Amino acid sequence: MGEAVTTCDVLVVGAGPGGGNAALQCARLGLDAILVEDHDEIGTPVHCGECISEIACQNLGLTLPEHVISKTVKGIRVIFPDGTEKCLSEEGYVLEKHLFEQWIAESAVKEGARLSMGHKITGMEKLFEQDSFSGWLCQGKGDLFPIRAKIVIDASGVSSVCSRLLDLNPRGKVVAGMQYELEGVPTDGYLDFYIWPSYAEKGYLWMIPKCDGRANIGLVTEDKPRTKKALDEFIEHTHFKGLNQNLPTWKKKGNPAFGGTIPISGPHENTHYDGLMLIGDAAGFTSPLFEGGSHLALKSAVFAAQTAAKAISENDLSSEKLSEYPKLWKAEFPPYDKILKGKNALFELSDEEMSVMAKCFPDEMSDMGLSGKVFVGLKLLYRSPGLYAKNIVRAMLAFGYSRAKYYGW
Ligand SMILES: Cc1cc2nc3c(=O)[nH]c(=O)nc-3n(C[C@H](O)[C@H](O)[C@H](O)COP(=O)(O)OP(=O)(O)OC[C@H]3O[C@@H](n4cnc5c(N)ncnc54)[C@H](O)[C@@H]3O)c2cc1C
Repeated sequence: MGEAVTTCDVLVVGAGPGGGNAALQCARLGLDAILVEDHDEIGTPVHCGECISEIACQNLGLTLPEHVISKTVKGIRVIFPDGTEKCLSEEGYVLEKHLFEQWIAESAVKEGARLSMGHKITGMEKLFEQDSFSGWLCQGKGDLFPIRAKIVIDASGVSSVCSRLLDLNPRGKVVAGMQYELEGVPTDGYLDFYIWPSYAEKGYLWMIPKCDGRANIGLVTEDKPRTKKALDEFIEHTHFKGLNQNLPTWKKKGNPAFGGTIPISGPHENTHYDGLMLIGDAAGFTSPLFEGGSHLALKSAVFAAQTAAKAISENDLSSEKLSEYPKLWKAEFPPYDKILKGKNALFELSDEEMSVMAKCFPDEMSDMGLSGKVFVGLKLLYRSPGLYAKNIVRAMLAFGYSRAKYYGW
């Protein structure tokens, strides 16, 4: 007797924000979707600073329920090495991210998607009918496997598991992120982002306020071995010193630190293949300067679901047919090359040079307009013309492209 095979239109791998939304969108489009998640609970351990902009919610048509919002915030304040502060005011939310992800997955189930926890994909084999590609037979740990799917959406996060199983892309670069939840943290409602390379090499530190005086204090850095030490030193040397570390509500025991890794090389070269699309972190879609990825994960899920529905209705699952998907995200997502070059230029600057640049910015950077940019350029030319040779314009553009409307958060 043959092994029982579960069948579906679309298998979504991973129930983070990307995977949950992919299953939700597929179900809304009338597809039979299965969402599998390796862990036994959705959203934990949290590996996110937990912020998302109001622009992202509008762009995604999300009306957040009260219980997933920890705090509404006014925007981002960037703090440069000499303490100069500049604001990017644009409203948003700090979430209880695990509750947000659970809400998205529950919404998918309400719309008809099947959700299976404790299911881990470990293998994929191509299927053919009359010499044409007809889908995937997926193996894994969990009762539902083997699963036969017309299309697989890889939403497995930074591990990009399907891409790895099929050797579709080289491993991209990642940064390490770590944070603590502290209590009694003063806030005026801004997310504070500290560009302080002496603690966070080629990265930054943050204070992301939550309700009840709680806040995530964390960092991302390319100096992975020093991550925890650098974060502890930052807390020790700033006004966060002496504040109590909480175990976050979702964490029952163990070390209060939590975090993960974030892809930072920009999108993978191949985000689709026969019957396969990569979304969110699995596709490398994080915003390069501040490394926000939830908005991009949620939106790439929409594009992948639309592409899957069309391909299945036209009975063409080929890579060529699914090439609609990269066309959709490339038309909408930020100019990764420009931001990556700008980020590199920024981190080539010394602390002093960064601070000179910061002093030339207006206090409010969210809507500088053309005349504002020209004014900043003239100020820089007057104060430190040598910075032009260090690609300062690229560095400044990276800030512009890290705003919410460019999927920065
Ligand atoms: C420290 C830190 C702070 C961050 N702060 C922010 C922030 O404030 N705002 C923001 O927008 N972004 C932030 N990010 C980035 C953000 O968390 C990610 O971009 C986002 O979670 C990506 O969503 P995703 O659905 O693509 O992947 P993930 O959220 O990583 O979800 C992937 C899911 O796939 C599951 N999975 C993995 N392998 C398998 C398998 N083989 N089979 C089945 N399931 C599998 C995982 O268990 C996981 O649930 C931060 C990241 C870090 C590390």
